[in-house]
Amino acid sequence: MCIPSSVSSFPNRPPRKSFTVHTSLLFDPQQKLFLKNISIQVNPETGAIVGTFSRDDHDHDSAKVKTGEGDIDLTGKVVLPGLVDAHTHLFLHSYNERNGTQQMRDESAVERVVRATNHCRAALLAGYTTCRDLGTEALGNADANLRDCINRGLTPGPRLFVATEALASSGSYELRVENKLAGNGLGLSVPRAADVADGVDGVRAAVRRRIGEGADVIKFYADYRRKTMRFPPDVPGPDGKILFPPQRRNPATLAYSKEEMRAIVQEAKLAGLPVAAHAGEAHTALWAAEAGVTTIEHIFEDTYSQETALFDAMVANKVIWVPTLATAESLPAEMYAPMKLMVRRGYEGGVRFATGGDTGTFNHGLNARELEIMMHQLEMSVEDVLEAATIGGWEACGGDSCGFRFGWWSRGNRADIIALDTDPRIDPKALRKVNFVMKDGQVWKQDGITVDMIQVPSWPENDGEESV
Ligand SMILES: [Zn+2]
Repeated sequence: MCIPSSVSSFPNRPPRKSFTVHTSLLFDPQQKLFLKNISIQVNPETGAIVGTFSRDDHDHDSAKVKTGEGDIDLTGKVVLPGLVDAHTHLFLHSYNERNGTQQMRDESAVERVVRATNHCRAALLAGYTTCRDLGTEALGNADANLRDCINRGLTPGPRLFVATEALASSGSYELRVENKLAGNGLGLSVPRAADVADGVDGVRAAVRRRIGEGADVIKFYADYRRKTMRFPPDVPGPDGKILFPPQRRNPATLAYSKEEMRAIVQEAKLAGLPVAAHAGEAHTALWAAEAGVTTIEHIFEDTYSQETALFDAMVANKVIWVPTLATAESLPAEMYAPMKLMVRRGYEGGVRFATGGDTGTFNHGLNARELEIMMHQLEMSVEDVLEAATIGGWEACGGDSCGFRFGWWSRGNRADIIALDTDPRIDPKALRKVNFVMKDGQVWKQDGITVDMIQVPSWPENDGEESV
């Protein structure tokens, strides 16, 4: 049997011996406790944790670390498992730089891939060793290709679990243009933003297509602001404004029936894939929760007062909420403030959380903004948020069915280890101070400085000079 080895991706490197990472303060997500004087043994050949031990059990003078050859001393730092961003779009950059429609419609595929390559580095160096990427946004299956490039050691990046294209019903999630009068191909053509699927048979086929194309997670739009063409956006210039639009110009409305949502979940489960449902409205989220999705993304509003029923269904069906507060932060205050209160009530009501910012609508590398909002605006406990950002993220990726374990310290888990300069219980900006990053036993950042980002080939031993 061939055991996958991180070393095989880097043929220039000699085989590496097991080593130990020494810590003086380490967060254990399973116990939700900060522990003192723990050491972690890592096998870089398998990229896995071999075991952990408390130096207090071994040595009376545990503060002193005996570092062996190849060992890593993270004492004085605050050590966490690598973080999981449960909702990213690696092919997007900040909407403040260019809005989503323009990025999808106007940026070249090459530019978007180069940007995504940089985004992967930025996320990794920010302590994110895993991302669940929920749609390329009009770039087909490029996220699956990007994942494979990282897994082949071609470029550094987080472990990716990708959706490829999201499922959307006809006329829901798409790039819309008003220039449709000139038919016969003369109207503006735009790339598709989703895999369009309707009806129970149609969505089953779409899930099968996604699985066949390499998806790790199925994402669908349970609702969307799909009535935009009734009162299209105002455009600059005289006569560009829509006169007398209704109060709710383009609310999120249900885009799939209950039967279709159930079929998506059933079909994904046949292949062991988790399902992520986009829901702007709480009443949509309730349908998705009842259908048994793995995660619900967003839930910005509760127009129809469905919150209690929703939280009951989420708790009963063990549905994880990824509220994407970091993107909601840019909504109008009258929308963002009540949403935060709803998330807080969900937290108090025992709803399970994972942390994902919808990262990409704001820039990659700033992924921890989601955690900061949870800790400091919603006053969720630091321990609960860090647990949601690690074990919660692993569960959002499908748990054991994703093929890996990561996010806590058990033997056999991926050796994903990060260290902060300061303690997040004391310093509200601690998550911005990532000093050290290891993924799969390989160090990418040490003492705050990037390591090994570019692999330079070495000259062959015998370069054939004699024969010239
Ligand atoms: Zn998103």
